[in-house]
Amino acid sequence: MQAVQFTDHGDRDVIEYGDFPDPTPDRDEVLVDVKAGALNHLDVWTRKGLPGVDLELPHVPGSDAAGVVLEVGEDVTRFEPGDRVALSAGVSCGHCEFCRHGEHSLCENYHIIGEHVRGVHGEMAAVPAANLVSVPQGVSWNVAAAAPLVFQTAWRMLVTRADVDPGEKVLVLGASGGVGHAAVQIADYLGATVFATGSTDEKLDHARELGADHAINYAEDDFADRVYDLTDGRGVDVVVDHVGEQTYPDSLKSLAKGGRLVTCGATTGPNPNAGLNRIFWNQLSVIGSTMATRGEVDDVLELVWDGEFEPAIREVLPMSETARAHELLEEREGFGKVVVVPDSEYGRQ
Ligand SMILES: [Zn+2]
Repeated sequence: MQAVQFTDHGDRDVIEYGDFPDPTPDRDEVLVDVKAGALNHLDVWTRKGLPGVDLELPHVPGSDAAGVVLEVGEDVTRFEPGDRVALSAGVSCGHCEFCRHGEHSLCENYHIIGEHVRGVHGEMAAVPAANLVSVPQGVSWNVAAAAPLVFQTAWRMLVTRADVDPGEKVLVLGASGGVGHAAVQIADYLGATVFATGSTDEKLDHARELGADHAINYAEDDFADRVYDLTDGRGVDVVVDHVGEQTYPDSLKSLAKGGRLVTCGATTGPNPNAGLNRIFWNQLSVIGSTMATRGEVDDVLELVWDGEFEPAIREVLPMSETARAHELLEEREGFGKVVVVPDSEYGRQ
């Protein structure tokens, strides 16, 4: 088969598209004919090389994909050839202390397809049946591939970890990114008043279309000051922050007393000044979140398949142009998800 791959970590020029051995499913796995995949920021980190992650090279990247079941391993009962499926990339063992409590993304052996083990951006992929979700007819391959990782991440952050109530004020940073644009839609769905940041007027218009009540241009204004003005000095109840060092001080400043900062990543670095004085005096909570449980994945994807939530697709590229897809992410061009399609399928959808 043809697959995206790299033999060394490094700059975008390490990414190739070419022959790779056909995958064969284990007894609990499903072989999927991949129709579309989607990029996430972690694809960039994986390409550059993550400390402590020792990948088998050449590595096939990709944590999001959707397609048709070609073949199932002997223990698989949930799927059969011809089924339409999407991948949810988090792999949990099912029997550790945390899995037994249904907390799959706390699994002692938790790992992510595409980040820690071979990914799915090729013409075919063999993945555990437990990581597949059915996709109804009528849902496009691009939507099915673009939704799972970012919508499950944003859902767990807002619904489970921050436990947002109707009427609360929620600030979403970087509303044009994958997690950000999902978080805006979910916060609006939960009945929150949504504040969103972006760097251009076009991105802010998009955020308003997705449900943001207030859009803040962080390139022009200090977003904490704008939040202060817009809330008459009170602040917001919840900040969704995946930016890290660059935004964390202003995220804390934007919180009302008793507020919660929920984080799922630190694109600009993991070690901001902790601001403990502000945390104890204002009685703030800093809450971590990673991916989601299997039940949360089912809940949020059902709402995507129903059309309640919609992943924005900023560009659809053939897999051979994956380096360009990385550039779009790294340069923060556009809004929403970058989809990649096997070259043999490109233009056929
Ligand atoms: Zn486990």
